[in-house]
Amino acid sequence: MTLEKEVLSMSTLEIHQIPTRTDNYVYLVRDSATGLVGVVDPSDAGPVLEVLDRLGWKLTHVLTTHHHNDHVGGVPELMEKTGCIVVGAHVDRDRIPGISVEVSDGDTYMFGEAEARVYEVPGHTVGHIAYWFAESKALFCGDTLFALGCGRVFEGTHEQMWNSLSKFDEIPDDTHIFCAHEYTQANARFAISVDPDNLDLQAYVKDVDKKRAADQPTVPSLMGDERKSNPFLRARSPDLMQAIGMAGAGPVEVFAEVRTRKDNF
Ligand code: ZN
Ligand code: FE
Repeated sequence: MTLEKEVLSMSTLEIHQIPTRTDNYVYLVRDSATGLVGVVDPSDAGPVLEVLDRLGWKLTHVLTTHHHNDHVGGVPELMEKTGCIVVGAHVDRDRIPGISVEVSDGDTYMFGEAEARVYEVPGHTVGHIAYWFAESKALFCGDTLFALGCGRVFEGTHEQMWNSLSKFDEIPDDTHIFCAHEYTQANARFAISVDPDNLDLQAYVKDVDKKRAADQPTVPSLMGDERKSNPFLRARSPDLMQAIGMAGAGPVEVFAEVRTRKDNF
């Protein structure tokens, strides 16, 4: 049986988190107004079908953030078994299986009556996108922003990734960050290594260790906590710059240095 729990229940979106593979998170989202049911980044069909069955929900949509197999691996089988449609990045249309709704930067995508803002966030892949449901206080950001981390820069440049993360600046502190992996504890060890005197980070890490010791997810986290503690969002922080010996440097340089250190950590 797949472990799954309800993380948020709002007037518009009901969100269930499904852990898959070793450390993936897949999300079911239901628009209560219309009954539409979406799945965000289905790595695999099996656990998704199982939870749908248990909840008595009928899948209508797949929302993809990027083309990596651990995010779209379940798409063909889900399409075949449920007839759902697939939403994804216009710029990556050739790599998203089954795509029929193409979205671009700044688009408003209506999932039933729930409104999502689409961000193009190149860096991890060139066609990566994120969905922000402002009213539901939920950001689905795939492998762009993680709890205390960010995705590896595989296809884009450090500058692109920094600019992508900076697009989230407008997102309020009380927004839940539904990222696609449980990488937080490893991210925490790195974050402490570059930003050891950050008291907010220290408190965050304590909480993460407690949750992991109890086998609980550390995701979603809150945007406000990421702002205070995630080193990849802190490339403008004088404290972090000081800590890594880059006082006075520009944010792209600082971000690139932190990302490179993490790659080699
Ligand atoms: Zn990925
Ligand atoms: Fe991934």
